[in-house]
Amino acid sequence: MNIQDIHNLFLKCGSLSIDTRKIEKDSMFFAIKGENFDANTFAQEALNLGALYVVIDNEDYFIDDRTILVQNSLETLQELAKFHRSYLGLPIVALTGSNGKTTTKELINAVLSKKFRTKATIGNLNNHIGVPLTLLSFTKETEIGIVEMGANHQKEIEFLCEIAQPDFGYITNFGKAHLEGFGGVEGVIKGKSEMYQYLRSKDKTAFVNLEDPIQIEKSDGIKTFTFGVKRDNADLDINAIQANPFVEIDFKDFSVKSHLIGLYNANNINAATAIGRYFEVKDQDIKEALENYIPANNRSQLITKGSNEIILDAYNANPSSMAVAIANFVQLDKENKIMILGDMFELGDESAEEHKIIVDSVLNENNVQTYFIGKAFYQNKISNDRILFFETFDSFKDFLQTIKFENNTILIKGSRGMALERTLEFI
Ligand code: ATP
Ligand code: MG
Repeated sequence: MNIQDIHNLFLKCGSLSIDTRKIEKDSMFFAIKGENFDANTFAQEALNLGALYVVIDNEDYFIDDRTILVQNSLETLQELAKFHRSYLGLPIVALTGSNGKTTTKELINAVLSKKFRTKATIGNLNNHIGVPLTLLSFTKETEIGIVEMGANHQKEIEFLCEIAQPDFGYITNFGKAHLEGFGGVEGVIKGKSEMYQYLRSKDKTAFVNLEDPIQIEKSDGIKTFTFGVKRDNADLDINAIQANPFVEIDFKDFSVKSHLIGLYNANNINAATAIGRYFEVKDQDIKEALENYIPANNRSQLITKGSNEIILDAYNANPSSMAVAIANFVQLDKENKIMILGDMFELGDESAEEHKIIVDSVLNENNVQTYFIGKAFYQNKISNDRILFFETFDSFKDFLQTIKFENNTILIKGSRGMALERTLEFI
């Protein structure tokens, strides 16, 4: 069966699923091999649960004429997504970058949905499976698609662009994330720039933040729509930005008071505004969309517990997002500030150095108390009243039981594996 035939069957289905636990009636089930399981074994169950068709890549599991046997289910899923994207022919905005993709994606979606019927990546489904699933969720009704693309090694973004064929692209930033897989910061720049290469080769448009010299340099020769602070040459000119703790931005014609914490979120808001402007969403609608956006999932949330204000950013951390989170926190105009910072994972050979840089960066912050948690930070243990080190979360927990938080402003940030949101129980 060729991909067009499979696509015809897909169009008869209401949805697509790769997980029998979440299967919907009349869907097309793709049996994708995982690390620990072979989904071919779930083909019969998928049909029992109401799937119209199952795509498998092991003939031993062939059932009846509802079974589509292919060489490789994952590759077929990717081909089908590419085919579907071309079939729909809608404009697609893709974004990648080291930090802020999901937040920016949500903001862009909020802004564009004021004027268009949009569909965007759900949650964080941004890899070689998530991007195809996102594209296959778009329908004839969808007017603009917004696709988040994640990567932790070279050629991944190139591959995802070949499937999604974006008409517009935005790279949030080039930071120190996934250094292990990319081979250092230069590797990150090269890997993320694959999106620019794609846009350049197809004469498509990039949104460019003029505050980032790497974006300016790497987007050379591409059609661009730019934004920047007090730059006459920008397509969207920004007057002023502040954060205490929420980000507020003055654009020339309107201002935005967001619910996002952290100066770094200004870039995300600016990008969404620029994209809204490009697609001619009304200023008032852009403002409303951005002001109504409330972050979820531990990404820079502001929580009040008793007399304490907590900036919970425990969703993830890497050297770049850690540095900007600290920079933002120390500039806050608050009393009794405490930072609870956990190890950053996936840094390979650069782990020791990057943890040391973070420790060094707080040495002179005299009005902040810092607690470092995890083995990598512990390696940099020094003796200082304002900076304490705990090798494990358990030892930190013991310490927490001996202190009382009152009228504190607290930043909590660490890699996902540290699960620092556990701290909340003790505050
Ligand atoms: P993932 O790799 O998990 O998909 P992501 O790129 O989608 O991450 P978000 O989930 O939007 O990023 O944000 C994760 C964290 O990155 C935030 O909580 C914040 O600490 C930091 N962050 C967000 N935006 C920026 C930015 N523009 N620059 C630097 N750090 C940022
Ligand atoms: Mg994300």
